Amino acid sequence: MSLLKQFLRAFYLLRNSDQLPVILIPKRQVSKMANNPPSPCVFCGPSGAGKSTLIKKLMDDYKDIFGFSVSHTTRKVRGSEVDGKDYHFITREDMLSAIGRGEFIEHAEFSGNLYGTSKAAVSKVLNERKMCILDIDVQGVMSVMKTDLKPIYIFIVPPSLEILEQRLRERKTDSEEAILKRLDTAQRELKFINEQNDSVHKIVNNDVDVAYSKLQGVLSTEIARVRDMRFKVGL
Ligand code: 5GP
Repeated sequence: MSLLKQFLRAFYLLRNSDQLPVILIPKRQVSKMANNPPSPCVFCGPSGAGKSTLIKKLMDDYKDIFGFSVSHTTRKVRGSEVDGKDYHFITREDMLSAIGRGEFIEHAEFSGNLYGTSKAAVSKVLNERKMCILDIDVQGVMSVMKTDLKPIYIFIVPPSLEILEQRLRERKTDSEEAILKRLDTAQRELKFINEQNDSVHKIVNNDVDVAYSKLQGVLSTEIARVRDMRFKVGL
């Protein structure tokens, strides 16, 4: 439809309706966004690899593009974490009941605690027409790979296991037992990540600024597409 026709159509609708000017959004653009929604983005990598730092940076720099899928977990609150923002902290009993009711897209046991992505957490972000960021472990990735979510997969890996161990010790948030457990898990996670083909993106986080530039590069096309679509539908 030409611009003039779009304008006349919008004017006609506006004159004959008491609805809000949201009808000025051309129907074609709304359906385009509904048919081709922003891609979810799955982040995975051993804890201590720097995933959270990179995600936070991305969300701060592109507030209108990304939304975070707040997971549920049965583990205890760590450091300055906030319930409902970093995680929904929940008892094992309640989480198992919710899983039983089919409320989760995926869930996994990690280092003795349950973690899971609820359908509600993802829907909330998708309804805002934003790219939904999932920060999940390898088991979660394997589950998501079986769904029709079709996200962009980004694996953040440390330069080496030695450096990962050093980082985990420096952050002083885990007990010795928890650190050893995380290192053991990390070894298995890195094996899985190395087995993945080129359809996923692997970013080695040696220097956070370099890793972040690579991340922006990987996501730049989708960010531009989502920004353009949001602009066209007046968001
Ligand atoms: P942390 O305890 O360090 O916050 O997270 C431990 C691991 O659990 C990390 O690898 C993190 O990505 C993963 N994780 C966090 N939320 C979820 C979730 O909803 N599902 C799955 N499968 N893993 C999660």
